[in-house]
Amino acid sequence: MRITAAVVEELQGPFVVREVDLDDPGPGDVLVKVAATGFCHTDGIARDGDLPFPLPGVLGHEGAGTVVAVGEGVTGVREGQDVVLGWPWCGGCRNCLAGEPRYCLRMGELVGGGHRLDGPSALRGTDGSPMASHFFGQSSFGTYAMTTASSLVPVPAGLPVELMGPLACGLATGAGAVFNTLRPEPGSSVVVYGAGTVGLAAVMAARNSAATTIIAVDRHAGRLRLAEGLGATHTVDATDTDPVQAVTEICGGPADAAMDCTGNIAVIRQAIDSVGMLGTALLIGGAPAGAEFSADHLTTLWGKTIRGTLGGSGHGQHLIAALMDLHAQGRFPFDQLVQYFPLDRIEDAVEASYSGAVVKPILTMPH
Ligand SMILES: [Zn+2]
Ligand SMILES: [Zn+2]
Repeated sequence: MRITAAVVEELQGPFVVREVDLDDPGPGDVLVKVAATGFCHTDGIARDGDLPFPLPGVLGHEGAGTVVAVGEGVTGVREGQDVVLGWPWCGGCRNCLAGEPRYCLRMGELVGGGHRLDGPSALRGTDGSPMASHFFGQSSFGTYAMTTASSLVPVPAGLPVELMGPLACGLATGAGAVFNTLRPEPGSSVVVYGAGTVGLAAVMAARNSAATTIIAVDRHAGRLRLAEGLGATHTVDATDTDPVQAVTEICGGPADAAMDCTGNIAVIRQAIDSVGMLGTALLIGGAPAGAEFSADHLTTLWGKTIRGTLGGSGHGQHLIAALMDLHAQGRFPFDQLVQYFPLDRIEDAVEASYSGAVVKPILTMPH
């Protein structure tokens, strides 16, 4: 079938909105009519080559829409169902079988292979030329996306499907780091470095936990105000303040936990230095390929944990479903972070994301 998609033709090239051809669903495939897709920094990183993906190809990995057709052998989803397109997982490797699909041993192929896990690409140019599909198992910067049933999460009735896509990646990453990895103890303190999508999701999740001190650190006053409205008990503007010192003053000593949601090497060090004995520093933000960080040896010996977490860890299906319920209850108001752009204004959405003008741009599909 002929669809409209934002195609990246070459490394660091623009997103070009044009027609492409998509397969009919084969065995194991699920065809989703995409309502909207969040723009995530990872899409920009893939366009620029720091996350390898064959080009020309279609990116997009925070899609939501309606199942319109399923291939042979597909169970668990039906036509007409509204769904979030979550992260893919193989279901058969050691980590998937252990209930840790975010650490699927075939993640590289699933995310950046440019084709079905054990099959060809689902996309091609209208002249039959090759085109990569299945970015994060979905390539949802298009009016339709081919995916697999195991990554889909049903959207409960009454929720706006076009809003739900970002729960698949950035929001799940920040919230899951709190719910699945950190699990704050009653009365504990949590510092969140970086008040973008991931950091603000972490603030909202911490607000739903037993942590009683939630400190947001950023350089944008507007984002800090947003963090305050979403549950931060304190904010630190790192433009003119040493955040480690500010955290120490607020907590009356080091914090119990700090989360780096920036991927900035200097900020990672600040997060590590913000926690003391038996404290936990969580690394969440994506740094450039090949980046390294350092930590003070002696204070790390003091029972400190420095831990990485990917995509919120845990089982995406459970986490995304819980976040939708929390949203419906008014306890995860991520709608405050989004702004909608039609697909043909994708470059404006990218610009708004990079400049910080919009926390989470969502691209709506022309149908
Ligand atoms: Zn796996
Ligand atoms: Zn993402």
